[in-house]
Amino acid sequence: MRKNIAILGSTGSIGCNALEVIEALGEPYRAVALSGHRRLESLLAQVRRHRPAAVALTDDQPNEAAVKSLRQLGVEVYHGAAGMVEMVQRDDVDVVLAAVVGAAGLPAVLAAVRAGKSLALANKESLVVAGSLLIPEARRRGVNILPVDSEHSAVFQALQCGQGREVRRVILTASGGPFRTASKQKMERATLADALAHPTWRMGSKITIDSATMFNKALEIIEACWLFNLPPEKVEVVIHPQSIVHSMVEFVDNSVIAQLGPPDMRTPIQYALTYPERNSGISRRLDLTQSMQLQFEPPDFDRFPALRCAFDVAKRGGTLGAVLNAANEAAVEAFIEGKATFGEISRLVERTIESHRLQSQPSLDDLLEADRWARQSVREALSQSLMAP
Ligand code: NDP
Ligand code: MG
Repeated sequence: MRKNIAILGSTGSIGCNALEVIEALGEPYRAVALSGHRRLESLLAQVRRHRPAAVALTDDQPNEAAVKSLRQLGVEVYHGAAGMVEMVQRDDVDVVLAAVVGAAGLPAVLAAVRAGKSLALANKESLVVAGSLLIPEARRRGVNILPVDSEHSAVFQALQCGQGREVRRVILTASGGPFRTASKQKMERATLADALAHPTWRMGSKITIDSATMFNKALEIIEACWLFNLPPEKVEVVIHPQSIVHSMVEFVDNSVIAQLGPPDMRTPIQYALTYPERNSGISRRLDLTQSMQLQFEPPDFDRFPALRCAFDVAKRGGTLGAVLNAANEAAVEAFIEGKATFGEISRLVERTIESHRLQSQPSLDDLLEADRWARQSVREALSQSLMAP
């Protein structure tokens, strides 16, 4: 059994955790291909340690020094977004772990599915944008898409306790992020530092801000519909501040099956790589001899309009997933650069969705065009200062 893994976005939070998991698993698991964007020092350190055969440098600016160092280490170097697409198709790649952030991950995810590679998917944005293309393509080619996202890994595991037709609903848990109990006024003007202070998870900055607005859960609602072939009416969200219960499935006999563990992404990453087997893990263990509380509460759709948006988009489909995702990426970028307030992020996304002319059976070009349109529309709204509350 070969388990040669390409990690796309190896320099990120998921990428670094994945390399730790692969190193601890040992043979036959190997990181044979890596990709990095800006953090080239970290990438080179990873290459020295893990000795992959191939590396993609995805940033458009060529870095001659990095290329030279990589070649000296005997690595085949690929360039740009197209290079990452080419790299995943290599014969020595069995599994692609997609951990690039944002819609930038989509072309390589699509190429991996088309090349018949197993896909361990962290890059939820690619499903939100193009689930309508990726899922049928994966089915046609018999490609397994194994979720890395902790909630979807939990659902995937719980679903093994019954048949698809026996599922009443899927319950996604959400920590509630740093503003779970904050007032609307406080959230409106929250700073970048406030939004980055996640109570339970350490992650990259984009997903951390998405957790603060709950657009992360919005993306996950849509992700769950695609991955598990569910209508949005069968997906629910519950706030669970401790992030111990990673999600649940309720079956028609009223049994609710949950998956638990401390918040540590190495558990779902490992399961996506070793499935259908389980190996001894390096992630933290759950210690129930320590007294702890597990709380559950309903989400607040008024303070977190992202959730409302997600159910609407999941119902209407077409190009709307691409629009929600791109508008959110552009709004988060603007917030990080100090060009939008925290409160404006949700309003920008809602307004962009409202003004979009939906196309119901989009091609890849239609989806990419909807993505471009949404980003432009956010930039225009910001430049015209349209987004006051
Ligand atoms: P990070 O920001 O930590 O890492 C992102 C990775 O993508 C880095 O390797 C970065 O390279 C690379 N990258 C950035 N921009 C581009 C681009 N335009 N083209 C190609 N590569 C690029 O993010 P995370 O690891 O936190 O998240 C990665 C994905 O996993 C996201 O989709 C997120 O939603 C999902 N996810 C993350 C979880 C977590 O715990 N972190 C949990 C569940 C899902 P470089 O650093 O070299 O610039
Ligand atoms: Mg998640």
